[in-house]
Amino acid sequence: MFDVAVIGAGPAGSTASRYLAKQGLKVCIIDKDTFPRNKPCGGGFAQGLLDDFPYLKKRADEFLKGIARLGILHSPNLHIALSGKVEMAMTLRTDFDNVLLESALEQGAASYIGSRARHITIRPGSSKVELANGNSIKSCMIVGADGVSSIVARESGLQRSWPKSKITACRVAEVPAKQDEIIDRYTEDLQYHFYASFGGLPGYGWIFPKRETINVGLGIVGAHARGLPTIFETFVRYLKSENLLARDADLSSVRGALVPTGGPAKKTVSDGCLIVGDAAGMVDPLTGGGIAYAMRAGRHASRAIATAFDNGLEHETLLKYEQSWKNDFGKDFKGHLLAQKVITSPFTDLFFEIGRRDELIQKMVSESMDNSSKSKIDTRNLVLRTLLVCLRGALGI
Ligand SMILES: Cc1cc2nc3c(=O)[nH]c(=O)nc-3n(C[C@H](O)[C@H](O)[C@H](O)COP(=O)(O)OP(=O)(O)OC[C@H]3O[C@@H](n4cnc5c(N)ncnc54)[C@H](O)[C@@H]3O)c2cc1C
Repeated sequence: MFDVAVIGAGPAGSTASRYLAKQGLKVCIIDKDTFPRNKPCGGGFAQGLLDDFPYLKKRADEFLKGIARLGILHSPNLHIALSGKVEMAMTLRTDFDNVLLESALEQGAASYIGSRARHITIRPGSSKVELANGNSIKSCMIVGADGVSSIVARESGLQRSWPKSKITACRVAEVPAKQDEIIDRYTEDLQYHFYASFGGLPGYGWIFPKRETINVGLGIVGAHARGLPTIFETFVRYLKSENLLARDADLSSVRGALVPTGGPAKKTVSDGCLIVGDAAGMVDPLTGGGIAYAMRAGRHASRAIATAFDNGLEHETLLKYEQSWKNDFGKDFKGHLLAQKVITSPFTDLFFEIGRRDELIQKMVSESMDNSSKSKIDTRNLVLRTLLVCLRGALGI
């Protein structure tokens, strides 16, 4: 019998397991895949994440694939590009997630890697995870870190399914490239690009240069995402025509994936169960970045669970987790949901036109690109600043 069964060994589950085990709890980590495994992802995150998790920083040479130093944000009509010096660490999820999992196992988490959870029964003090191989695992409580299609979120009733408007469908490829080519195309600064609403469709495209690969991806909000593979091809053709990708770029690794971009689940805690990371919709609605939120939520969850083992595993005691993550980064979602509306509205090109004339707007926008909750976009200030620039333009001052 385990104290905690964590389902999912991505950034959320491995981080939660590591801290739970470190606090002396008997924890097991379950994942359907065998590791190392690749998770379709851009693999970019704010460098500050490494300072936040020092055990990760110590092993950075195992997963860090360069620091990209200049971000360029393109308008939907592709006529305007705003740029800013915002550093982003680049990784490959195969290596990154493997280091996270190893860190959890080193602290004593028991491994059920390569086992799919098929069904859960939640009862505080005596829960059960049934595995696809016919075995089952008993635990006092369950953590759902099983990603965007979480069975824990669904079966606990915390988040039954995401409506299409709150899901972004993506295509992403990791394109192998020689170092010379990478520096030629993206400079020593490893310039990375975001495309707001490519082709006028709500969503975003990106190109992230790394040490030996170039990550290319396109995401479109669910309801508009029919025909995504064809639109992705158009996007790639465009990048080639701009000399941002080689004519013979090898896109054979292309994969589809979903990411929840409509803000977090209303409830993330129930009796004997909580959900973290993508399972709880903790993804930046503007950039689709969720690695940092997943890890920070995993750590908040572990602390709340450790306290709950002294005070009872009911909803009321576990609510401390919900309060902690909301205090930490809950506000980001509100601001960025509003910003997402601005950037996917018919007025986006106009907004870029105004932004082009104002350095402060450019700084505010570019700082929102690094997938970090520390770089919150202050939507209110941004709107006020935009209005001010418009007014100045109208008055000719
Ligand atoms: C195309 C794309 C690009 C992205 N780019 C970025 C980026 O550049 N930067 C960034 O910060 N974020 C990015 N994201 C978001 C980021 O990938 C997620 O927010 C992050 O992976 C969330 O971590 P997680 O641990 O919650 O879930 P995941 O990383 O999805 O991990 C969930 C784990 O649960 C396992 N699992 C699922 N179901 C079961 C089951 N039934 N039984 C057992 N195991 C199960 C899976 O195998 C998986 O290992 C991107 C997402 C996509 C789709």
